[in-house]
Amino acid sequence: MNSNFSRLAQINLSGIGCWLTVLLVFMLLSAAGLGWLVNGIVVAFLLLLLTPFIAILVLRWWVSRNVVEDQCPVCNYTFTGFNNVEVRCPSCGEPLTAEDGHFKRQTPPGTIDVDAETIEVDVKQLED
Ligand SMILES: [Zn+2]
Repeated sequence: MNSNFSRLAQINLSGIGCWLTVLLVFMLLSAAGLGWLVNGIVVAFLLLLLTPFIAILVLRWWVSRNVVEDQCPVCNYTFTGFNNVEVRCPSCGEPLTAEDGHFKRQTPPGTIDVDAETIEVDVKQLED
């Protein structure tokens, strides 16, 4: 029983030895009045970890705001365009305007696409 415990303790100690060293260095730096340095290192480390995630979130937010992938209301050809920019359908040449995630004919036939409202809600949630 006692020998088992000491073996377990040895394994744990070898595993967390490096972390104990890091902790000891941080404690020594704090004791020497360099707590701000420890905080700076921790904050820099966290920023380094978080930066890729933030970049992906910003990119996704920008894409969701500015890139529109939808079907041509005339011929149902799916293609990609930028928000609030006039485009021509590459399939049938119809002049279209991208608004709220959907391509709309510049001469609307008078019917409103129901899907436009759900897409708009999704974009607003992403912005928050
Ligand atoms: Zn078309």
